[in-house]
Amino acid sequence: AERTLVLVKPDGVSRGLAGAILARVEGKGYQLAELKLLTATRELLEQHYAEHEGKPFYEPLVEFMLSGPVVAAVFQGERVIEGFRSLAGATDPTSAAPGTIRGDFGRDWGLKVQQNLVHGSDSPESAEREIAIWFPA
Ligand code: ATP
Repeated sequence: AERTLVLVKPDGVSRGLAGAILARVEGKGYQLAELKLLTATRELLEQHYAEHEGKPFYEPLVEFMLSGPVVAAVFQGERVIEGFRSLAGATDPTSAAPGTIRGDFGRDWGLKVQQNLVHGSDSPESAEREIAIWFPA
């Protein structure tokens, strides 16, 4: 089955939303395959966000992701990558549609990084790459 990496970012964990977020993904029908709580390292995040290196939000993004524990999960099911991204909503939580995770729980906190609660892989290739980073064999 198709797999995707889902992260509940530090804002989601610190606000006590990890369980509610995972429940929405399970409720849509996707199957939890891996799950852990961890605090990332800079090395791990540099791999995960390699495509964003050099962008203005890169350093604030890495600092934010280091600011507290995250929940890392693998979900599986037919078209789970597309399905999770639809559930997560638009990147900017202010404009993310109500009914989505970001639209229902997120907003702009006036910071240099969009604290938007979740990450989901955007293609089968990035899913397998990201799962290998967060869940090494
Ligand atoms: P989406 O699900 O919309 O693709 P994403 O998490 O994949 O969101 P990316 O474009 O890969 O978004 O960016 C990674 C993360 O960097 C975002 O989730 C957000 O936290 C942060 N980010 C992205 N663009 C900006 C921006 N213009 N300003 C501040 N932070 C940003």
